[in-house]
Amino acid sequence: MFKKKKGLIVAISAPSGAGKTTLCKRLLQSSPSFIFSVSFTTRHPRKNEIEGVDYYFVSREEFQKMVDARKFVEWAEVHGQLYGTSANLLNKAIEAEKDVVLEVDVKGGTQIKKNYPQAVLVFLLPPSWQELEKRLRSRRTEDYERVKERIKQAKKEIDYAPYYDYLIINDDINRALDDLIAIIRAERCRMNRVPLEEMRDSEG
Ligand code: 5GP
Repeated sequence: MFKKKKGLIVAISAPSGAGKTTLCKRLLQSSPSFIFSVSFTTRHPRKNEIEGVDYYFVSREEFQKMVDARKFVEWAEVHGQLYGTSANLLNKAIEAEKDVVLEVDVKGGTQIKKNYPQAVLVFLLPPSWQELEKRLRSRRTEDYERVKERIKQAKKEIDYAPYYDYLIINDDINRALDDLIAIIRAERCRMNRVPLEEMRDSEG
């Protein structure tokens, strides 16, 4: 039997408000072959967030200890809080040949690509800055100054876009999900992911 290698690493980055969390959740619901890489963070849990599902919530001290012990494949400070991807969790998923989805900021995305060149980096953008502002305001969790700050930050993140493999514009979540699934399908068919030697020796 000819088989393609499993174990895709898909890292998704986007400005806050672009719909990254919804898109990742929809992707995970679409197929059991994906698992989400649960990050560690020093920020407090939001309402409805569950320890070990959305994040592992730790103190700055605990986080720093993990940094010192090289427990992260990448980590970054985002909006004043620390976030990191556990090497242990990611490597276990890779060994189990799972398709892993990571939600990371742009610094994290480029670090992942450096450590795992086979990773697929996807950049998600809202249809316009005006739309992003509208979405952030409708969340009502941020005050005026913070919305302005988030948009300024988002514009800076565009500098990292050239390091990414794909861009999805989220003007409609269903279409964005279709795009993401199409990207993943195409990536699974990439010739350099096909174990040609094994195929040559494959019996039957
Ligand atoms: P939030 O606090 O809104 O959940 O996330 C804030 C930002 O941190 C988002 O851009 C999110 O993608 C990013 N983030 C979440 N987990 C990680 C991680 O493990 N590493 C990095 N570099 N960024 C992360």
